[in-house]
Amino acid sequence: MSKKVVIIGAGIGGLATANLLAKAGYNVEVYEKNSMPGGRAGIYEAKGFRFDTGPSWYLMPEVFSHYFSLLGKDINKEIKLTKLNPAYKVFFETEEPVTVTGDSVVDAQTFDAIEPGSGVKLLDYVSKGDDIYRLAMKYFLYTNFSSIRDFTKLDIIGRGRVMTRLALMPIDKYVRRYVSDRRLRQILEYPMVFLGSSPYSAPALYSLMSALDFREGVYYPQGGIYTVIEKIVSAGKELGVSYQYNNPVERIDVSDNGTVSGIVLQNGKSVRGDIVISNADLHYTETKMLDKNHRSYPSSYWNKREAGPSALLMYLGVKGKLPQLEHHNLFFVDDWQKNFDDIFKGKKIPHPASVYVCKPSATDDSVAPSGDENVFVLVPLPAGVAIDSGDIEKVADRYLEQIEKHMGIPDLRKRLGVKRLFGPNDFIDSYNAWQGTALGPSHILRQSAFFRTPNKSKKVKNLYYVGGSTTPGIGLPMCLIGAELVYKRLAGEKRGGPVSKIRRIIGSDK
Ligand SMILES: Cc1cc2nc3c(=O)[nH]c(=O)nc-3n(C[C@H](O)[C@H](O)[C@H](O)COP(=O)(O)OP(=O)(O)OC[C@H]3O[C@@H](n4cnc5c(N)ncnc54)[C@H](O)[C@@H]3O)c2cc1C
Repeated sequence: MSKKVVIIGAGIGGLATANLLAKAGYNVEVYEKNSMPGGRAGIYEAKGFRFDTGPSWYLMPEVFSHYFSLLGKDINKEIKLTKLNPAYKVFFETEEPVTVTGDSVVDAQTFDAIEPGSGVKLLDYVSKGDDIYRLAMKYFLYTNFSSIRDFTKLDIIGRGRVMTRLALMPIDKYVRRYVSDRRLRQILEYPMVFLGSSPYSAPALYSLMSALDFREGVYYPQGGIYTVIEKIVSAGKELGVSYQYNNPVERIDVSDNGTVSGIVLQNGKSVRGDIVISNADLHYTETKMLDKNHRSYPSSYWNKREAGPSALLMYLGVKGKLPQLEHHNLFFVDDWQKNFDDIFKGKKIPHPASVYVCKPSATDDSVAPSGDENVFVLVPLPAGVAIDSGDIEKVADRYLEQIEKHMGIPDLRKRLGVKRLFGPNDFIDSYNAWQGTALGPSHILRQSAFFRTPNKSKKVKNLYYVGGSTTPGIGLPMCLIGAELVYKRLAGEKRGGPVSKIRRIIGSDK
């Protein structure tokens, strides 16, 4: 009889794991509380606009391409990628905007024009970041840290001292060794927000993120990020994965011998499973779906962990064109540190705030009615802070006013044909997010790599986790890697690095 895997949650991590395990021969069922797949990477459609609900940056293209290759698919046939030029535009409170192209030679000239001599420093910074990125891809991302042999390789030992130094130094301190101008520091530090962290606490090892911006370039999948979700689901259907939407899971069942036996849905129905994999946020899985004696992590563990920021999201259908904006746009406040301190330390709703504004209709005609613009706004907010439904309009309005002023669109609020707001409470209601975090536990050192909460229960046999709250971490590519890590656990594959194919674990290769 085929072994049955039950997956809780149809976020990208759950969906991607379902496919790999179906390919490995398991009978896979996915149970999702909401009415559609994608989780945080969802879709919202209104009046001819098609909005990606969360992610909008297609980073680490090689990870997507590798994942699809494991399913026997060519990413270039699945998704049409467009390289963005410019990569993004940065607006400041008091200075003129700066455009980053993704071509490091051109960007070095831009840096030089702002701070003489910083162009060559940028190239050095990016080259070092790229070196760390390659090392991470080879040893630190595609690993369950189950074999010490991976970490005794010469290229790791040779860089041991440098890596340790970069692990222990906050990236803000590291960046200051390269550039002094605040705007340039902000450009090198902002990717820490992608990792749910502040540049004042994220380790300098994450300077690898700038290798993505400046060396790899920034891409966009035509149709939007949700196209990736659609392709993963259609691959799953071909592999026989079954999807049960509108089916919230109440608890995970464990037999007397400490092995998982299945799940119980909120409608009271029991579903048997030989293996259960939870893609729901780990805090929720552990504290709400398991009995106390089956939890690997007591509440004292979570009290010492740091949730990444929550966010206020706005989905705006704007009448007419917005030539002021590129595809990706960032606005950075002058008092950079105060903005992060408000979010991570003071737990205060920041104002003014650094914000991200995405206009995918710059690159894709299919996401907005002809002549109009699709605009997505993301304002990072503290985790654990609620905004009442009566107040959210007021809070959003202050940020829209800021965008009007600093991005040069004085009539933005008058041109909104669609306006949907999504705040911290919605992250909890929609996804059972821990403290309303948009992203998951932040990537500070003690929550990264070996120190990130592992993807396997310590108490319950055959219970695994996948997604942004476990290894390797936050972001779509990380969740795809996370899916492969669960497969590796089940396949007994201990070596680091990506696998070259999915081996049949149940039954034999056809
Ligand atoms: C606003 C925003 C912007 C982002 N930008 C980017 C970006 O540009 N690029 C990038 O790579 N990443 C980005 N990310 C991060 C990325 O979207 C996430 O890391 C990733 O989508 C998380 O996927 P996941 O597998 O952890 O599952 P999630 O998307 O968290 O999904 C988990 C699923 O579990 C379901 N669930 C929860 N509880 C239950 C239950 N009891 N029963 C059944 N189902 C349940 C939820 O409904 C959900 O569908 C962004 C995220 C957000 C929110």
